[in-house]
Amino acid sequence: MLLRDVGYARPGTTDEALALLAEDEGARPLAGGQTLINVMKARAAAPDVLVDLSGIDELKGIELGSDGTLEIGPMTTTSELIASQEARARPILAEVCSQIADVQVRNRGTVGGNICSSDPTNHLPPLMVAIGAEMTIAGPSGQRKVPAREFFLGVYATAVGPDELLTKLTVPPGRSDGFASVAVGRDGTCIVNAAASANGELRVVLGCVGAVPEVVRPDSADPDVVRKAVRAASLDPPSDVHASSDYRRALAEVVAARAATQAAERTGG
Ligand SMILES: Cc1cc2nc3c(=O)[nH]c(=O)nc-3n(C[C@H](O)[C@H](O)[C@H](O)COP(=O)(O)OP(=O)(O)OC[C@H]3O[C@@H](n4cnc5c(N)ncnc54)[C@H](O)[C@@H]3O)c2cc1C
Repeated sequence: MLLRDVGYARPGTTDEALALLAEDEGARPLAGGQTLINVMKARAAAPDVLVDLSGIDELKGIELGSDGTLEIGPMTTTSELIASQEARARPILAEVCSQIADVQVRNRGTVGGNICSSDPTNHLPPLMVAIGAEMTIAGPSGQRKVPAREFFLGVYATAVGPDELLTKLTVPPGRSDGFASVAVGRDGTCIVNAAASANGELRVVLGCVGAVPEVVRPDSADPDVVRKAVRAASLDPPSDVHASSDYRRALAEVVAARAATQAAERTGG
């Protein structure tokens, strides 16, 4: 389907992009366009102006600090993250990005776009919560930092306001992480996924079982303990064409236990 008429701007700096967003209530940031252009084609969104972030170098790239902290520009594509030497400091990042859809989607889709779309079936929202990432958001009144667990507010809703931009993801050091999912076919959408981090206290975060990532804190990575903790969380997952609510609830226990086991087996965090 053809797009309806839409304005287009390609600023060169974050400040210019913020000014464009402030100028027009109907302006929307455009990252890789993998989601936004499709929802525009489906007439589910109709921005007046697309503010293309692809010309803003300060929103791209990955830096590794001397303490092992990673700073990831939101316009980094998932393919660039997979190829990044720096990102190897937190190996789970590239491992999970490699599981996203296919190479075409990974070449265009950005890390920032993946989390800002807050699609409950995406891979990165539960991962970011599990590994304790922090998001930097810039807007007319300056910058603020939001922990990943407070960033996702609902389906397609995040802490980033309409006149704001996600400008950085900060990922602390750690190696004891895990991820498990059951998807629709090899490259397909996740039916349920789970990310776990055992760098210090064990944290397991489930995706696809609610509007936002669901945090579970089992006392240990023992599979029975993890499964019990998931059961105690009284999840109420949606039913759809791919899986019933009951099936998702059962799968949640399985993927949570797998992710926690993987995280606990990887020492050195
Ligand atoms: C066929 C297909 C299969 C896919 N399968 C998977 C999958 O299995 N797992 C998975 O995790 N993902 C999957 N995706 C999603 C994909 O990986 C992208 O992450 C996603 O489409 C959005 O990234 P994008 O860079 O294209 O963002 P866009 O589509 O450009 O933007 C998405 C949203 O985020 C907003 N936005 C983007 N960047 C910023 C920013 N810096 N600040 C504020 N707002 C911003 C935009 O305004 C828009 O609302 C799939 C996509 C497609 C098309």
